[in-house]
Amino acid sequence: MSEENKKWVVILIGPPGSGKGTQAEMLAEKFGLVHLESSKVIEEKIKNADPENQTLLEEKRKWESGQLNTPKLVRRWIIEKIEELALLGKSIVFSGSPRTIFEAEGEISELERSYGKENIKVIHLDLGEHGSVKRNSSRRICEKNRHPIPNFPEYENITQCPKDGSGIIRRVLDNLETVKVRYQVYLKETKPVLDLFEDKGYRIIEINADQFIEKVFKDILEQLDDKN
Ligand SMILES: [Zn+2]
Repeated sequence: MSEENKKWVVILIGPPGSGKGTQAEMLAEKFGLVHLESSKVIEEKIKNADPENQTLLEEKRKWESGQLNTPKLVRRWIIEKIEELALLGKSIVFSGSPRTIFEAEGEISELERSYGKENIKVIHLDLGEHGSVKRNSSRRICEKNRHPIPNFPEYENITQCPKDGSGIIRRVLDNLETVKVRYQVYLKETKPVLDLFEDKGYRIIEINADQFIEKVFKDILEQLDDKN
């Protein structure tokens, strides 16, 4: 981490409410990493969709109606984004990708090719179902850039995003049943990605995410240091 010009990658994997977005923002700020979010990659692609491009229009329709975008396309777009950032010499932190084994398999090869296996750090933000449900029952994000507003006492009464001053909205899908389903989807679809990394010889950095933001961040920094 101390070598200024070394390109590296951090991948944060954890259930909804584990603070991936928050920790990714903090890491991005501290180390000058690009925070790569698949939702933003998708938005960027469909925002200026050519009216002649039926495939993109269909993806735009899915996006606007809240349906999942085609995994094959999302994976390709993310891989293209990785190539683009690698060419610019940027380091990356991922907070919502890979979400599935399918995404991971494509992304890992591209990341290893562009960054080298030894420069890829995989962090598991461990949080049980109870914690995930509790955190998500009041999940808030900012209007302008969708910065997650952490669900901690120090943020309880704020009305503006600390980063850009925009208003704060509550995500409507976060009712109890939805949150429980999302946790199960995480266990089934995303958590196996950690096993895939292990099978490929990575050491997973295990972090207890059921702690205050600053403590989680401190644990991450310590573990990243230990590795170098
Ligand atoms: Zn914001």
